[in-house]
Amino acid sequence: MFILNILSDKILGECIREIKSSQKSIYLTFDDGPNQFCTPQVLDLLKKYNIHASFFLIAENILPNIEIFNRIKNEGHAIGNHSLDHNTLTYFKGEIALEHWIDCGEKIIASYLGHPSIGFRPPAGVRTPPLKKIMNKINSKPIMWKHRFYDTYIIFTDSAWKKKIQKIKDGDIVLLHDTHKTPEKFLASLENLIKYLIKNKYQIIKLPATKIFT
Ligand SMILES: [Zn+2]
Repeated sequence: MFILNILSDKILGECIREIKSSQKSIYLTFDDGPNQFCTPQVLDLLKKYNIHASFFLIAENILPNIEIFNRIKNEGHAIGNHSLDHNTLTYFKGEIALEHWIDCGEKIIASYLGHPSIGFRPPAGVRTPPLKKIMNKINSKPIMWKHRFYDTYIIFTDSAWKKKIQKIKDGDIVLLHDTHKTPEKFLASLENLIKYLIKNKYQIIKLPATKIFT
């Protein structure tokens, strides 16, 4: 995995999968929101444990869910750009369309936030040579992840989840999705993950803006 990451970074440009610091930190990130059916419950859980996370938002989802967006913002979580509309066909439409997709997402998010987002996470985790060029141009790096839990493709059983939890290390970025239509099982697993991290003395914090650490 490590060798593969080095090779892909050489071709596709560097990205951020972890942030090492002197503190024992973990970064929980939630993609594809905001929405009515899962984001509020995730926010309630984060509030219950008094922790902060990072939400990579689809810009088009904000206006129909503006109250939820305001909750994310006002409750102190970090907000990142996850493109205008998450249409992954954009990767095949050339560099100008790709840049427009990222830039429009950023402009919309920044207009609601009042300042730039923390950075860009490519939908479906796709990195391409044109994306590398665009990221270089704006002096940033895509924000990826080290671990992918309970996401849209893989539904973990509790035992598989627990096995995966053991692999978490200091500074790792964890990818989750707040898009579960019936979120009860997901929320129970998320709470287990949070409890595990707290018990093992991790501080669960939000990501800083990418410009700070590029
Ligand atoms: Zn996504």
